[in-house]
Amino acid sequence: MNFCPECASALQLKRVDGVDGVDGVERKACVAPGCGFVHWDNPVPVVAALIEYQGKIVLARNAHWPEGMFSLVTGYLERNETAKHAVLREVKEELGLDGTVRDFLGCYSFFEKNQILLAHWVVATGEITIGSEIAEVRLVSRDELKRWPFGPLAITSALVKHWLETACGEAGALKNP
Ligand SMILES: [Zn+2]
Repeated sequence: MNFCPECASALQLKRVDGVDGVDGVERKACVAPGCGFVHWDNPVPVVAALIEYQGKIVLARNAHWPEGMFSLVTGYLERNETAKHAVLREVKEELGLDGTVRDFLGCYSFFEKNQILLAHWVVATGEITIGSEIAEVRLVSRDELKRWPFGPLAITSALVKHWLETACGEAGALKNP
């Protein structure tokens, strides 16, 4: 953001008071008299779905990602939408599946993208029909998921590991045949 959305003046880097009022932080801010707009650049919430489908886990490759890079289905919330509704809408839009939220898996800070992931465990039914943002999907067993090379996707890797070690184990889901 380079211009003030309130008065259209150019924004400048400025030291503004931090939330704790101690040191302050440097942010783009409007210096026009009487305006006071600050572009705080707060993290954006993103919903993520770890999808259980027909006893497997669905991994998806984003249409912009290289071959072999798979992750969870994610998406932004719409205005006036709860995280639970958003995650189920994304599952429907991207995979054509009807889902129910089994559990909330936690918040994961994604500093590089200035996002906070709200991770949900979703159980889905129906026929997979991939949407425009997805290039391909893989259905993997719990064992395959344990060994899945997420590579640079550290957040996905941590989230999946957490699910395998806690939620999944407690609920006894996805038992190996
Ligand atoms: Zn302004």
